[in-house]
Amino acid sequence: MNSNKGPVLITGASRGIGKAIAEVFAKNGYNLYLCCKNSIESLNEFSEKLSTMYKITSHAFQCDVSDENSVISLFISIMDKCGQSPEIVINNAGIAWYGLLTDMTSDEWHKVMSTNLDSVFHVCKNAVPYMVRNGHGKIINISSVWGNVGASCEVAYSASKGGVNSFTKALAKELAPSGIQVNAISCGVIDTEMNRSHLSEENLNELASEIPADRIGTPEEVGEFAVSLASSPSYLTGQIITIDGGWI
Ligand code: NAP
Repeated sequence: MNSNKGPVLITGASRGIGKAIAEVFAKNGYNLYLCCKNSIESLNEFSEKLSTMYKITSHAFQCDVSDENSVISLFISIMDKCGQSPEIVINNAGIAWYGLLTDMTSDEWHKVMSTNLDSVFHVCKNAVPYMVRNGHGKIINISSVWGNVGASCEVAYSASKGGVNSFTKALAKELAPSGIQVNAISCGVIDTEMNRSHLSEENLNELASEIPADRIGTPEEVGEFAVSLASSPSYLTGQIITIDGGWI
C-alpha cells in the first residue's frame, strides 16, 4: 500500500452507483477494495484502470455479499493479499424486484432481503472488529427513498431499505462510543441499469418531470456526496441523508 487515504471497501462496484463511487474516491486519492458477485473480469479491468489513472492501489474481489461465508472469505483475502482492513466501508450492492407482492415467490423475497439487508450485516460484522481495534472507521450504507416512504410494487425492496435505515441508526448508537461513524445515503432516482432495465426513456422523462430538480440524478453525484460524507466529522452519525433532487 502507498501513502494514500483509505482503504475503502465498496460493494457492488462493477457498474452503476458503486462504480461511480469508486472512481470519485480514486480521484480523491483513496486506495480501494472493490467487489461484485458476477462481473469480476470487468471489475478487474476497471480496478487496474483506476490504479493507473489516479496513482492509487486498487484490488478487485469476487464476493456474493448476500452469503455470509463469501463475505468471511472476502475479508480473509483482503488481509492475506493487502494486510490492511478497510477504514471506510460503503455497502452499495443491491438488487430491485418489481411487481405485486402477491406475485412474489418466497425465494424472490429472500433474495432481495439477503442481497440488500443481510449483506450489510455480513460486511459490518466482519469490518467492525478491525475498526474498533483501530479506534476509527466509517460506514456508509446506500439506501433508497423507498426505505423512507415505501413504494407500490416494490414492497420487498422498500422493506429491505427501511431495514437498512434502521440498521444504520441502531449501529451508529452502538459504535459512536468507539469513534465509528455510521450513516446512510438515501437515493432518489439515479440513472443506472437498475432503472433502465425496467423503465423506458419515456418513463424516465415522465419521472424526471415530477422531480423539483427536473431531472434524475447521476451516479457521480452520489459518489461526490459519499466522498464528502467520508471526510465529515465523526460527530455526524446515525443519519439517513436523502439525495433526490427535492423529490420525496
Ligand atoms: P446496478 O447498476 O444494478 O448495480 C448493482 C451492483 O451490485 C453491481 O455492481 C452488482 O454486481 C452488485 N451486486 C448485486 N448483487 C450482488 C451480490 N449478491 N454480491 C455482490 N455484489 C452484488 O444498481 P445501482 O442502481 O447502481 O444500485 C446500487 C445501490 O444503490 C443499490 O443498493 C440500490 O438499491 C441503491 N439505489 C439505487 C437507486 C437508483 O435509482 N439506481 C435508487 C436508490 C437506491 P454484479 O456485477 O455481480 O452483478
